[in-house]
Amino acid sequence: MGDRLSQLETISSLLVDMSQASDFVDAYTIIAETARGLIGVDYSTLLIYDPDSPTLTFGGSSGFDKESLRTMPSILTDPLIRREYYAEDRCSSARFDSMEKLPSSGQKIAEALGIGSIVITSLVSARNLLGYLITANREPNGPVPDDAEEQMTFFSECIAIGVDHLRATMRLRRTEEEAQKFFSMAPVGLLSVDSKGIIRSANPQILSILNIRKEDDIKGSSIFEIQSIMKSGLDALILQGMEGHSGEKTDVRIVPGPDRALYLHAKVAPVRQATGEVDEVIVVAMDITSNIRLQSQLERSYEKLTQTYQELENVTRMKSQFIDVVSHELRTPLTVMRGYVDLLESACDTATDPKLSQKLKVIKANTDKLYGLVESMLDVSRLEKGTLQIHTEPMKMDAILQEVVEARTTDAHEKMQNLTLEIEGELPLMKADRRRMKDVFIHVIDNAIKYTQEGGHVKVGARDEGRTIHVWVKDNGIGIPLENLGKIFDRFYIVASDDLSHQVDRIGLSLPISRGIVEAHGGRIWVESQVGKGSVFHINLPKTL
Ligand code: ADP
Repeated sequence: MGDRLSQLETISSLLVDMSQASDFVDAYTIIAETARGLIGVDYSTLLIYDPDSPTLTFGGSSGFDKESLRTMPSILTDPLIRREYYAEDRCSSARFDSMEKLPSSGQKIAEALGIGSIVITSLVSARNLLGYLITANREPNGPVPDDAEEQMTFFSECIAIGVDHLRATMRLRRTEEEAQKFFSMAPVGLLSVDSKGIIRSANPQILSILNIRKEDDIKGSSIFEIQSIMKSGLDALILQGMEGHSGEKTDVRIVPGPDRALYLHAKVAPVRQATGEVDEVIVVAMDITSNIRLQSQLERSYEKLTQTYQELENVTRMKSQFIDVVSHELRTPLTVMRGYVDLLESACDTATDPKLSQKLKVIKANTDKLYGLVESMLDVSRLEKGTLQIHTEPMKMDAILQEVVEARTTDAHEKMQNLTLEIEGELPLMKADRRRMKDVFIHVIDNAIKYTQEGGHVKVGARDEGRTIHVWVKDNGIGIPLENLGKIFDRFYIVASDDLSHQVDRIGLSLPISRGIVEAHGGRIWVESQVGKGSVFHINLPKTL
């Protein structure tokens, strides 16, 4: 009984010492030393489970060489040993007077240390295994005392709660350290103020935002003393937090220095005590100045783009109106003019007045040209409105190609060009608008002749490709620069950089009309070209019947 009393006295003063220990190793060493003293053995050590992982770590020891203990945990985590010797719900001890019962790794350590006998006691608190207390004697000192098991179990029961508390403190300290690390390393500004608005802590990011050199310069100050906070309206947000409400504000404009203005996205959250009262307000601030700048740049570019687009739309609309009005207005007088020229031609005696006859021919040619232009403009207008009529009929494409090539041979010969037609195999009968398709071939072949120098070649070819008929017009003329290739099918587009750009009869309408007609047939027209080498225009038409 007396023994127990003195033991309890020792343990209670141990618990006091533990609470005053400077760190955990210190506290665990005090436990090991007390245990060793209680039963008078050579060695004692405490092995503690890491609160967050299943590993046993060296806590503190007395008499043992620290280095030789490093492998000790492997003995104790052996599940067989645990199951065989230890109770799950309370502290219990196992005594080994012969080392054979220990796993081989333990035997080796015992041998190295010269241990002859050992008592290993589990530390259990609230059914939780916290670790083990080891007490051992060197061989010359013989076995540990007979009642060592009982004493160590009692001792462990008394100190288990203290050890549990230490472990909890350890966990708390680690969490605090992690929180502190996060606080200082977070990519956002963090400020903590108390319920009265006094700054408790500030991380480097918020210090840089507020243009403050070090934390101590503002720690303990009221947020109401900090000009940049007050002027930005951040104070109102923090006040909201002090009153217990979370809140956030985008685009907080803060001016921390004379030549500096920043934009912040700020959030506040109150942290409450157990009583529900606000203890702390956390302010999170993110510098979004570069985003804002980018956004306003984007907005400006967007505005410009919209403006340009609107201008472009206006021009396009005006172009369409112009085409519409001009073509309709010119068509009627031109038709009348053509009629009169025909009438004059038949009325005048060409044999007696050859000069007049010559003049009439010139007038007729020019009227026809003008009429052709008006027709083109009307076609473009119809294409835009979707009113271009296609009248399909069964036809043979090779016959049309033959006709067009024959009709254009004179023009080619005038430029000493070689215009050829080569049809691979025979083309089948298919449905298409004969007049319109003829116009397409005329446009493309005329262009090939026009944009090929004297003595050049223009080769027209066609073949049946199963589902489609493929027609191509290949020249070795001036070619089209890559940057213009995508635009030549736009109305009124001409390649301004080529040698012929000054030529007056270039309007930029025949390709858009051709594309409109080909697409109205469900086909496709495209071009391949190389400046100085020539161009190939391809037309693919589905074989519908
Ligand atoms: P136009 O020939 O009346 O100018 P188009 O719509 O037929 O109008 O053609 C548009 C532009 O495409 C031409 O101005 C010319 O710059 C270019 N182009 C068309 N065909 C060829 C070709 N075979 N070789 C080189 N450039 C061509």
